[in-house]
Amino acid sequence: MRSLRRWVARAGLGGAVSPRGWALLTLAGLGVAVVLAALLLIPWNRPPAPRADQLAALRDLPADQVERARQFRSALRPGGWAALGVGLLVALALGLTPLGSRLIELAGRPFGSHWIAQAVLGGLAVVLVADLVTLPFAAWRHSVLTRYGLATNGWGGWSVDLLKSYAVSAVIGAVALLGFYTVVRLAPRWWWAFGAAGAATLVVVLSFVLPVLVEPVFNRFSPMQPGPLRTQLMELAERDGVPVRDVLVADASRRTRAVNAYVSGLGPTRRVVVYDNLLREATPAEVTAVVAHELGHAKDRDVPVGTLTGALGAAAAVVGLYLIGSWPPLLRLAGVDSVAQPRAFGLLLALVTVTGLVFAPVQALMSRRVEARADAHALALTGDPVAFESMQRRLSAINLADPDPPRWEYLYSASHPSTVERIAAARAYARRAG
Ligand SMILES: [Zn+2]
Repeated sequence: MRSLRRWVARAGLGGAVSPRGWALLTLAGLGVAVVLAALLLIPWNRPPAPRADQLAALRDLPADQVERARQFRSALRPGGWAALGVGLLVALALGLTPLGSRLIELAGRPFGSHWIAQAVLGGLAVVLVADLVTLPFAAWRHSVLTRYGLATNGWGGWSVDLLKSYAVSAVIGAVALLGFYTVVRLAPRWWWAFGAAGAATLVVVLSFVLPVLVEPVFNRFSPMQPGPLRTQLMELAERDGVPVRDVLVADASRRTRAVNAYVSGLGPTRRVVVYDNLLREATPAEVTAVVAHELGHAKDRDVPVGTLTGALGAAAAVVGLYLIGSWPPLLRLAGVDSVAQPRAFGLLLALVTVTGLVFAPVQALMSRRVEARADAHALALTGDPVAFESMQRRLSAINLADPDPPRWEYLYSASHPSTVERIAAARAYARRAG
């Protein structure tokens, strides 16, 4: 510890280490931890998916299906990027001008400008404004989904979903805001340390409770009906060494035609969920391929690993916000004295928004690598590349996925390998397996 202090002192951070010096050290430590976690836990070497196989796979897909998917994606694109741009501009306007702090003052005024009112109501007001400006783009997106027959819920169902998601965000947001500003008041010099620990804890808790508290707000989940397919899937999980209590079926058809499956939760809340659409549209062998992919996520502990990196990232973000947020020019722009004031929440949101946009491609890359590993797991577990390929074709056809999307878009935001990559990986596997 003494040598650390000497190092900090030598680094010109002050003789006795100040909270700021400790924050710098903590941020460096968290940065190293995030990078190490990513290097050690993300499968950077992806299984082969030769481009020649990808192009062959693209040629094998029905031309009209590819064309329709591309039209659909082109129809979504302008609104998607506009929402991103407008969201960024508004976040900057709320954070780098006094607009955000005025809005927060306004929200607190009916309650005598009490700090709790400013912190919770003001904070939620800022988030709500930032959300509402992108609402027209969300509505437009829904109209495109409806026009292409992918959305099944109509405007009524869409509005209910929207209100539910606002309500869920408001509850989680209120807890986070109240907790954060309470810590700031109790520990004015060291709030960043407690805040970082709190943010990391919140990420873990959310990952744990989302499947049981939040997902049921939007969907009904029921255990899969007993039958040969269910028996086969449970045996598959058993053979894989990832026993699952149940495969849950989500009533996704209430809002979409899309087919999908996922794993979520930690420990006792871990579950494998398949969309009811999937069971209706896909063959048993294809469903098996999908569930084998999800078992890959469970076996490689992708949810705990994602939660861990998310928690480290959230802690680093709090410390980073403390350090960047004490930069006087930023505070002047926002019209506040300290980043720790409830009135400065707009500035925090602006910094978080920019950071999110900057790190989006890194997150997408890590996600694609993890997904490719789950695909490889599915192929090895089922030994059935034919079913895997037909599942990919079906996913692409029903979900209107561009099988080979534009490179820049893929690099910025694709969470999964493209359809042609996934098919190419299956063909490469088939060749290796002989
Ligand atoms: Zn996956």
